[in-house]
Amino acid sequence: MIYIDRDLCTGCRRCAEICPTGAIEGNQGEPQIINREICVNCGQCVQICSAYASPYTTSPETMAAKNRERRLLPAAAPEPLFAAYNESHEELVREALARPDLFNAVQFAPAIRFALAEDFGLSPQVVTVGRIVAALRRLGFKYVYDTNFAADLTVMEEGYELLQRLQGDGALPLFSSCCPAWVKFVEQAYPQLIANLSTCKSPQQMAGAIFKTYTGQLDPDLRSRHLFVTAVMPCIAKKFECNRPELGGSYGRDVDAVLTTRELAHLIKDKGIDWHSLAEEEPDQPLGEYSGAGAIFGVTGGVTEAVLRTAAEVVGGKPLEEIEFHEVRGMAGTRKVNINLGKEQLEIIIVAGLKNVVPILDDLIAGKASFHFMEVMACPAGCLSGGGQPKILVETYRGSIYRQRAASIYNHDRDLPVRKAHENPAIKQLYADFLGQPLGELSHALLHTHYTVRRSEENV
Ligand code: SF4
Ligand code: SF4
Repeated sequence: MIYIDRDLCTGCRRCAEICPTGAIEGNQGEPQIINREICVNCGQCVQICSAYASPYTTSPETMAAKNRERRLLPAAAPEPLFAAYNESHEELVREALARPDLFNAVQFAPAIRFALAEDFGLSPQVVTVGRIVAALRRLGFKYVYDTNFAADLTVMEEGYELLQRLQGDGALPLFSSCCPAWVKFVEQAYPQLIANLSTCKSPQQMAGAIFKTYTGQLDPDLRSRHLFVTAVMPCIAKKFECNRPELGGSYGRDVDAVLTTRELAHLIKDKGIDWHSLAEEEPDQPLGEYSGAGAIFGVTGGVTEAVLRTAAEVVGGKPLEEIEFHEVRGMAGTRKVNINLGKEQLEIIIVAGLKNVVPILDDLIAGKASFHFMEVMACPAGCLSGGGQPKILVETYRGSIYRQRAASIYNHDRDLPVRKAHENPAIKQLYADFLGQPLGELSHALLHTHYTVRRSEENV
């Protein structure tokens, strides 16, 4: 999934410094290799690598061979090819879009809408939801939905799961399970803590499961056609996640292909779509409707805040006076907060950056730590800093761009008419028409999963 091109790698080992698992091996000045047994596919090495082959100084034959190796579209707009790279799903998506027997649906993650425009020269402060929808339709997607809708759904399921575990049903502390790099890290490095992971699928996978089941009810035409679901994500590990055998059902895989933000920009440029002249369009409903709670999933602390907005109202039985939980916000790698939830004092830990979680897990196993809930995102500022986002090659800009992307996310939340997942009318309708209730039988079948102990090479 993640590779280092021996021809291009200079052996600078900047990637090894940023790698949270120590998976990059090699001597200074020599090409590096990745130890797949401990790599979690977070893509931070891909994000930071600055050694490249230029389309202007490398032969067309060599560029074409490297494009093929990376599964990038051969005719894609000429761009530098960096030494550390991920295998692309561009070919896979273009093949699916060309098949008349498929109905192509697409979803895009919270962190895309504040970062994609950077690849077209705009500032991270520009929110481009309607323009992304328009571009996805020009690429040929018939249904344009929104991962934010499924983030709201995740809040419902995970919020109720937290309340259930607080009542003694299930292991505590509860660990968030939205980040596939974090989930793989627990499976391979701390398998004794697998029971602490939330059984909730990530928003990407919940979205796919709902598209492939509920949409058949909404649109009878879909029952006779096969739905191919593409997700656009800031994250490279989402490609690994969509291929996990645990994630799917009788309808096939929840999600069939994952494009990173960079890959979507590449496809838009390749198709000759003029980004700057696109008019705003609305996503398809009802699976394109979302609240501010879903929108803040893209920033570290966002999952926790979104879950608290729902859990606090369920426990308190009345609307919250203040729905912004500023205590959980910020960019520090580890944040510990106490929140009152009814009679319960909830101790919460928020971690951004996988390295920061190791001492906490070690303390937990040694019996030296106790808390109720922990959100972990493998990347340094949460999904907005994912390995698949537009590259930030000037190191000194990195922090400022992360802060601007986070500010855009919180501004978007403030601008939305509905800001709590349980008040999203499309979510209410989904439970009323189809799922029944959070943690119900159908929710369990479609929206929850289990995990794998990964210790051997064949299980990597
Ligand atoms: S992959 Fe890139 S960042 Fe890593 S050592 Fe090679 S050139 Fe440096
Ligand atoms: S993808 Fe992440 S874990 Fe894997 S080698 Fe790169 S930085 Fe390390």
